[in-house]
Amino acid sequence: MKPAPFDYFAPATLDEALALLAEHGGDAKPLAGGQSLLPAMNFRLARPAVLVDLNRISELAYVRAESGVAIGAMTRQRVVERSDVVARAAPLLAEALPSIAHPQIRNRGTVGGSIAHADPSAELPAVMLALEARFRAQGSTGERSIPAAEFFKGMLETALAPGELLIEIALPPLPARSGTAFLEVARRHGDYALVGVAGVVTLDPRGRCQSARIACLSVGDGPVLLSEAGKLLAGQSPSEELLRAAADFFKGMLETALAPGELLIEIALPPLPVRSGTAFLEVARRHGDYALVGVAGVVTLDPRGRCQSARIACLSVGDGPVLLSEAGKLLAGQSPSEELLRAAADAAATRDIDPPSDIHASAAYRRQLARVLTRRALARAFERAGSALYAPEAP
Ligand SMILES: Cc1cc2nc3c(=O)[nH]c(=O)nc-3n(C[C@H](O)[C@H](O)[C@H](O)COP(=O)(O)OP(=O)(O)OC[C@H]3O[C@@H](n4cnc5c(N)ncnc54)[C@H](O)[C@@H]3O)c2cc1C
Repeated sequence: MKPAPFDYFAPATLDEALALLAEHGGDAKPLAGGQSLLPAMNFRLARPAVLVDLNRISELAYVRAESGVAIGAMTRQRVVERSDVVARAAPLLAEALPSIAHPQIRNRGTVGGSIAHADPSAELPAVMLALEARFRAQGSTGERSIPAAEFFKGMLETALAPGELLIEIALPPLPARSGTAFLEVARRHGDYALVGVAGVVTLDPRGRCQSARIACLSVGDGPVLLSEAGKLLAGQSPSEELLRAAADFFKGMLETALAPGELLIEIALPPLPVRSGTAFLEVARRHGDYALVGVAGVVTLDPRGRCQSARIACLSVGDGPVLLSEAGKLLAGQSPSEELLRAAADAAATRDIDPPSDIHASAAYRRQLARVLTRRALARAFERAGSALYAPEAP
């Protein structure tokens, strides 16, 4: 289709562009790279009576290193992607840019155009939110600076007033000990992402997480700041926190601690302590079926070969995974022996779990399975930990 008729102006300066926008009011639209606006006009989803083309305004196209980085709104996405200044000062932006469409589109599309367009599936708004960017906007009556957190108002909606232009994107310097990452999933490279995540984490001098700013795209009407996830990480030592978060994660049947709009983005497993052994066993009707009962265990020996700790978790015996804490307590500090393992397995079956009866298995059968599997899993784990005191019997 062809667009509806429109008048076209191509001013050479910012002042001229602002004067034209003021003169034509709500009938006029600025044209940047045209990669979103022109398709919308061709489909007659947008019908501006006047187009004010910003492409000849060279004063709006630049990348400058100044306490962070400043980018003119008309800078092409491809220029920013290739900028050494951006790679050094804002590696998150450099990492995210290649995920936008294809090079041909990024050769034309501008950074300012993508931000002003405010597509909830676009990469740059989420990156800007994570980086705490500030946007300089100018209208015929003056200039103002808008923080990214106040700029995105909803689907294709921003804080820009009619006739106001986004003229510069200012990214503050990253604090020392910061790391950034951008990840997204799209059906094909170049498609809009199904979901993407842009993150900035900063460590304090002791290696704890001082702050974490993570923004998500394609999960709402605009970029979404994962503030609950950020709060959870702040002040914690990353591995400690992730362990704690993992323990608190499972809340019940098909229920987790994730807040609405929050994504699970990584599973971090701490290194096993020395002298540790692990085992996993389950019983299912057929291989590949959900298990009737399963047991996963980690045991660690102390230097004298006694059990320093035993962490055993059971599946299919409750509303979520069940930690066999009574069994673990019974083992701690003891020398592994067949008798001890049987006692721990009994504690697991009688005190740690309260399994359900359903069409797949009775509660009594599950209890018995948990008893047998716990004993066998412990025997294997202790053997793998190098226990010299315990020679496992044949299962
Ligand atoms: C096939 C295809 C695939 C794409 N895939 C992606 C993708 O995966 N991810 C992604 O983020 N984008 C994608 N895009 C969009 C692309 O990134 C656009 O370049 C971008 O959204 C808009 O930038 P633009 O410079 O082309 O702006 P334009 O299309 O010219 O303008 C977009 C809107 O912003 C307004 N505007 C532009 N500049 C300013 C300004 N300085 N101040 C105020 N308002 C302004 C315009 O009036 C218009 O309403 C894709 C586009 C195409 C055609």
